[in-house]
Parts: sequence; structure tokens; C-alpha cells
Amino acid sequence: MQAMSPERTHPVVLIVAGNDPSGGAGIQADIQAVTAMGGHPAPVITALTVQDTVNAYEVSPVEAGLVVRQAEAVLDDLPVAAIKIGLLATPQIAEAVASLLSAIPDIPVVLDPVLYAAGGAHLAQQELLSVLRDSLFPRTRLATPNALEIRAFAGHLPDNDARAMEFVKWGCDFVLIKGADEDTDDVHNLLYDKKGEIEHCTWSRLPHTYHGSGCTLASAIAALLAKKHSVPAAVRQAQRYTYEALRNGYQPGSGQHVPHRFFHLPEHHH
Ligand code: PLP
Repeated sequence: MQAMSPERTHPVVLIVAGNDPSGGAGIQADIQAVTAMGGHPAPVITALTVQDTVNAYEVSPVEAGLVVRQAEAVLDDLPVAAIKIGLLATPQIAEAVASLLSAIPDIPVVLDPVLYAAGGAHLAQQELLSVLRDSLFPRTRLATPNALEIRAFAGHLPDNDARAMEFVKWGCDFVLIKGADEDTDDVHNLLYDKKGEIEHCTWSRLPHTYHGSGCTLASAIAALLAKKHSVPAAVRQAQRYTYEALRNGYQPGSGQHVPHRFFHLPEHHH
């Protein structure tokens, strides 16, 4: 019997993101979420960070050419079915990734425009915003900004509807605005396509603050796109998965909680 192709069994997700040594966010969150959704994660590291579960203290970017060579090695060998982009750290890395993407126009890109650590520290410089907007948004199938991030790009506009349409104007096909960082009783996540809002998901607010929720969600979506789900279906399923991971989360250090991204597997207690 012929072996099933990796496209069918473990679709490959190229992940472009930074390392969080506390293990809550960044590339480890991405690897775990893609794996949990049945994908094969191919992690390309853009930066080392110094951080714990309270905040981030340092970002040390990888040289842009080395980021590109990591991604090219993967793209030359593995059938990449979706791409998740998280922390890009510098305008040089963002430009290099954008030009790499122009050679592979058909692979869907989920872009989490990471600007801040959950503890509030800046993870990106101001110039990165304009490179994201001008060079990466035009290549983005789905952008997943939180409230703080969407205001950083489009805060001059009065409301989320207008801000989402600005992202569409800049080239994103879909925009998921995440509301966990808004001061509301429940959490409202809004999905837009080019014409306007198409889904409104409301989640009851969980009692803690979390490290790595955005990474988990964006990577789960990318894995589902790699499995050929539509964007709205992938967003719906990935939100349910992330909510369950957060509900089953735990506090590994003295700061934020982290999602339990394998909550669905049996626990082994001794
Ligand atoms: N990527 C890296 C490397 C990070 O350190 C962080 C946050 O600290 C993030 C992404 C974004 O994390 P979150 O999923 O909490 O938005």
C-alpha cells in the first residue's frame, strides 16, 4: 500500500516567530498548537527574548538573512501548506520575510502582528509597523490583532469596523479582532472579510491573565487552514480549542497563566 502523502496526514505549517524561554508564548506555543491540531510545525526563529511569566526584558533579533535561510531550507524540502507569522522583531526581518513570501503567493499566511508582551513590554520598534502594513498585510490571508495592536495601526479611526476595513484596504483578506484585552465583561472576537463583519464570537471572561493565548489561536488557525478548512471555519474551531486550552490553563511561575495546549490528552499522574 502506498504511504499517504504528508499533505494528507500532517500538513506542514511554517512558523516564523520568536522564542519565549518561559515556554508560554512564542514559538513553543506555536509548535504545541500546530501539533495539537494535527499539523507538522516547522519553526523558524526570528529572535531570542529574555522573559519570564511576568514580562519580557530583552529582544535579540536573529540576522535577517539567517531567518530567510531557515525558511528557504524548509520551503525547498517540505510541502508547506500554511504559514504563521508572529514576532518579526525588526523591520529588516519583516522586509526579508515579505520578499520571501512574494515567491510563494498561494500559501495562506496568518499574521499575528505581535507588538507587546502580555506583561506590556514592547517587542517591536515603531518602524516595524510600517513594514508590516506596507509589505506584509498585502500578503496576509488573516490578521489577528488584539485591541491594543489594532489601535497601534488604526487608532486614528473611531471604531473596530472602520479599523478592520483599514486592514482590508492595506491588503488583508480577513481580520480577526481579539477583545480579551478590552475592558468588557465578556470577551468579544470579531471576524471581518473584505465586505465587513461576518462572525461575532462571545466568550465568558476567564479569571486570569494569560501568556501565549494569541500565539495559540493564530497557530491553531494556520494548522486548520493547512488542512483546507475555510477561514471562518478555521477561526471558529481554533477559538473553541484556544478557549478550552485557557480554561484548562495553569500557572507555571509567579506571573501569568499559560494555556494547556494538550488538555485533550490523558494526564499521567504518578
Ligand atoms: N511572541 C513572542 C516571542 C512573545 O514573547 C510573545 C509575548 O510575550 C508573543 C509572541 C505574544 O504573546 P501572546 O500570545 O500572549 O499575545
